[in-house]
Amino acid sequence: MSSNYRRVKGTRDLLPPETAVWSAVESTARSVFGRYAYREIRTPVIEHTELFVRSVGESTDIVGKEMYTFDDRKGRSLTLRPENTASVARAYVENGMGNWPQPVKLFYIGPQFRYERPQKGRYRQFHQVGAELLGDASPLADVELLLMLDRFLRELGFEDLVVLVNTVGDEASRDHYRQRLVDFLTPRREALSEDSRRRLETNPLRILDSKHAGDREQLAGVPELVDSLSEEARSHFDQVLAGLDAHGLAYRVDNRLVRGLDYYSHTVFEIVSQDLGAQDALVGGGRYDGLVAALGGGAVPGIGFAIGEDRLIDLLPEAFRQEAATAVPATVVTVGAVAPAEALALAEELRSSGVECLVELAARSLKSSLKRADRHGVRQVILLGDDELAGGYVTLRDLELGEQRQVARADLGQVLQKPPHDRGTRT
Ligand code: AMP
Repeated sequence: MSSNYRRVKGTRDLLPPETAVWSAVESTARSVFGRYAYREIRTPVIEHTELFVRSVGESTDIVGKEMYTFDDRKGRSLTLRPENTASVARAYVENGMGNWPQPVKLFYIGPQFRYERPQKGRYRQFHQVGAELLGDASPLADVELLLMLDRFLRELGFEDLVVLVNTVGDEASRDHYRQRLVDFLTPRREALSEDSRRRLETNPLRILDSKHAGDREQLAGVPELVDSLSEEARSHFDQVLAGLDAHGLAYRVDNRLVRGLDYYSHTVFEIVSQDLGAQDALVGGGRYDGLVAALGGGAVPGIGFAIGEDRLIDLLPEAFRQEAATAVPATVVTVGAVAPAEALALAEELRSSGVECLVELAARSLKSSLKRADRHGVRQVILLGDDELAGGYVTLRDLELGEQRQVARADLGQVLQKPPHDRGTRT
């Protein structure tokens, strides 16, 4: 089959059985985040462009070149959300969440859009699972959030991920550091890449993130932000690290980690995997104590993270993937002259008792019905012939064991009902 209609570049169709894996990951997120009393928020996919310009920052790559921005029919500039933190902060202010009991703990799961060059692990529509904690400035809040993230990844079976943490300090620390950085890089300006020369004016901290080999060379001996920290910022960071130590959460301090977005303050972190190649970041996050105020709310501190769900699923440990993969356990088939409508009636009985099943709706030979059952990966075939119909029973054939037995029709639901993880998935 060929068609002139194609997916938009950088987007994907997620198909079964892979979608079952996505669902299982999302259920795990709901379960783990729920244990920390996080509740789900769903914000619109479109927002006023100004929201992202104001919060993510004009000089960032996201706002500068990656947004899907368009005018609606009334000429208002709208943007498909490139990330979800700004929308959550907007929703916090707009819905008066400042009057709710604090802190407010929210999580989200959904698509984000960035006009980036597609490659493995990088899409134009991708998905994030994230959490935001608003209204708690304490270093222990940072620790608890990281523990929750770590617990989620461990429940998925991840073991060898690396947690990188750093602090970008408070505004005073950053102002002090920015000046030192500019003083250090200005004499080296001509040797910097074009992007970095531009950032020297707009957003010098981002130069630390540069992957450009020439830039990396020029950065040898660069002053470290830790040396510019205010006493308060230093103390916040020390308490976060002490908390992580106390809970045995392994991390690496990476003094060059600054993260791409403007709204961060204090703790920033990333989780990376050696198995991801160039696009190695799996999770990004940090504290953003000034964001809500920048959007017109009060002085409400915040911290959060976003997990790249597409990358997470690419890397998912096999055991979790296997458990999530579902196969239809049973199919109802008529034999001989019995009308397929009888099979449908039985299938409906089974579904009423919670059993998942297929039904053969066309009259076929037994041989071709069994072949179809096999192609669907079905393990149990429920045969309904004249004798069975008259006797109020069925013949249950287990394709894997190659055995069959008679089961009273009234007991069939019970016999086939098993917990989801023991559904007789064929391997
Ligand atoms: P960020 O909002 O840029 O910190 O991104 C957080 C996480 O989202 C990253 O660590 C990635 O795992 C994921 N991510 C960001 N951009 C993309 C993209 N274009 N395609 C797939 N995943 C992405």
